[in-house]
Amino acid sequence: EDTMTPINNYTQEELTKELQKAKEEYASYQRQNLNLNLTRGKPSPSQLDLSNDLLKEMDGYLLEDGTDARNYGILDGIPECKRLFALLLGLKEEALIIGGNSSLNLMFDTLSSLCLFGTGGEKPWIYYSLNGTPVKFLCPVPGYDRHFTCCEELGIEMIPVPLLDDGPDMEQVKKLVKADPLIKGIWCVPLHSNPSGVCYSNEVVSMLASMETAAPDFRIFWDNAYGVHHVYEEVSLKNIFEECQVAGYPERVYYFFSTSKITFPGAGVALVASGPSNIAELKKHMSAQTIGHDKVNQLRHVKYFKTPENIRLHMGELAKQLRPKFDLVETWLDRELRGTGLADWTSPKGGYFVSVNTLPHCARRTVQLAKEAGVVLTKAGATYPYGKDEADSNIRIAPSYPNLDELETAMKIFTLCVKIAGMENILE
Ligand code: PLP
Repeated sequence: EDTMTPINNYTQEELTKELQKAKEEYASYQRQNLNLNLTRGKPSPSQLDLSNDLLKEMDGYLLEDGTDARNYGILDGIPECKRLFALLLGLKEEALIIGGNSSLNLMFDTLSSLCLFGTGGEKPWIYYSLNGTPVKFLCPVPGYDRHFTCCEELGIEMIPVPLLDDGPDMEQVKKLVKADPLIKGIWCVPLHSNPSGVCYSNEVVSMLASMETAAPDFRIFWDNAYGVHHVYEEVSLKNIFEECQVAGYPERVYYFFSTSKITFPGAGVALVASGPSNIAELKKHMSAQTIGHDKVNQLRHVKYFKTPENIRLHMGELAKQLRPKFDLVETWLDRELRGTGLADWTSPKGGYFVSVNTLPHCARRTVQLAKEAGVVLTKAGATYPYGKDEADSNIRIAPSYPNLDELETAMKIFTLCVKIAGMENILE
């Protein structure tokens, strides 16, 4: 098969011909006026339907201790909901705050309060910005664009560090945090990361928990958004709180989680967990912000799932819907690009994304070509701080939302665009 030949083996003439052929195929897609979308890391409607019993009339609104969930109160979340998620995630109930429907909201609020009030008696982080030397966060890349937006909005400088197969490049991380007291934190998506699907190894978790940092108020933002979202294979994650405890840094981690991709992204339950002193600080700030979050929804989730085991079974049902979609993405990448040298990609064990790397300088062109053929992709660069992918090579694919037919067409066009952009680049 032509497409399997490494692109470097082509003569200039052969390559020109190959590009011509690809452009003719491309033009035929353009004539179809398609409107496909691979940007959205959203559950499909049929995934959402799996949780529709949550919308049924709830049998009762009293908590197990008789408290009325409909009324004001219980700032940090209802005990039975804390218990359910503590058991699911291996956390301590007293280390938890159940918030509203969005973990991103909790991340932004936590980061904001660190800027405004500081933590553990250290200076508020905004102090450094006002002095012209803003604090910094390490950002493993490629990563989740909304994390980067939180930092940008709050004036926190971002330093990209490579995300390797087993977590952030710890040699770099350790060196940087040891040397610079202005580095106050790091973003981590430790399981099935967005977008690469990387799962942190035990060694990386231990190193993050125990590494020496110049900043006493260094914090890990541990966003376990895909903590139970195994699609092909269950992957375990070392408990970072236990590691931090052993290393003598009980307040180092803020742990975030939500049911956005378990039940409903628009109406789920989110949580933050941390050390006792951090939790006390967060509760104090939160008590100025609200009298309490949506306890009826918390109770609804408890009545619906009842046990952590039921959540895992439910994730198994969701995985059944996601697997054919991930399979299809892999099939087309494999069929059209394997062996060409024009791209490589991740084969995630879970989560929501596939990360594709084109040849350098080809991601933006690929995204533009796809758009002009009716396939919208996540903006090139979005997976990097400030939208700057120096290599211009990373593209995030989100296969969950479209149906299989739409996804297949989108993948044919996408792989074609990768080839065109790559060949154009080589011929330039
Ligand atoms: N964290 C990561 C890594 C995500 O990929 C997403 C959504 O795509 C979120 C957080 C958003 O979470 P939530 O819906 O709980 O705000």
